[in-house]
Amino acid sequence: MFMGGLSTLLESPKKLMKKNINYVIPVEQITWAGMDVAVDLGAEWFARWHTDDPSLDFAPEDHCAGVVHLERHERDILLRGHLAGALTCTCSRCLALYLEPLAIEFDLLLHQGVAPGGEEEIELTAAELDEDYFLGDDLDLTGYLREQILLALPLKPLCRQDCQGLCPRCGADLNQGPCGCQPVEFNPAFAKLKKISQE
Ligand SMILES: [Zn+2]
Ligand SMILES: [Zn+2]
Repeated sequence: MFMGGLSTLLESPKKLMKKNINYVIPVEQITWAGMDVAVDLGAEWFARWHTDDPSLDFAPEDHCAGVVHLERHERDILLRGHLAGALTCTCSRCLALYLEPLAIEFDLLLHQGVAPGGEEEIELTAAELDEDYFLGDDLDLTGYLREQILLALPLKPLCRQDCQGLCPRCGADLNQGPCGCQPVEFNPAFAKLKKISQE
């Protein structure tokens, strides 16, 4: 009986995490002593995000995983966590898919109530960005996790810092070598300058 119970304990967390992509915590369970929630964001979790927001320009690869710590501070809730993983992004220069590694740490103080919406949100200062809001009896971590992932993704994704991009004339991937196209406005002085800058 004891052995059976132990093996169930050892095996169940992984199974639970794979099946459960809802990270909804009843607010009353969050005490001053705090609790840790293991998050394992896999293909299913990202698929739902893509359904909610088809404009997302990354595809999930592998997964993001980490731990979220929740703690009650009077009427507020402290949400602290870390996530690590990788997402498939499209390089903004050569359009190739590549894996963007993610290592995110966050520390948010959640106030009970409704977030000030519209214009005000844009005017938040850096210090205020660490604050957010929650409403109701359940704390759904989904929105906070999505926001942290979006904040961590680069505005101009690059497969590598020195990506050469695509030839504007023939579309060849210049990372594979020169394509043979002449520059649109051929100027020997400019070509020489360009050669020097590449050396
Ligand atoms: Zn690239
Ligand atoms: Zn070309």
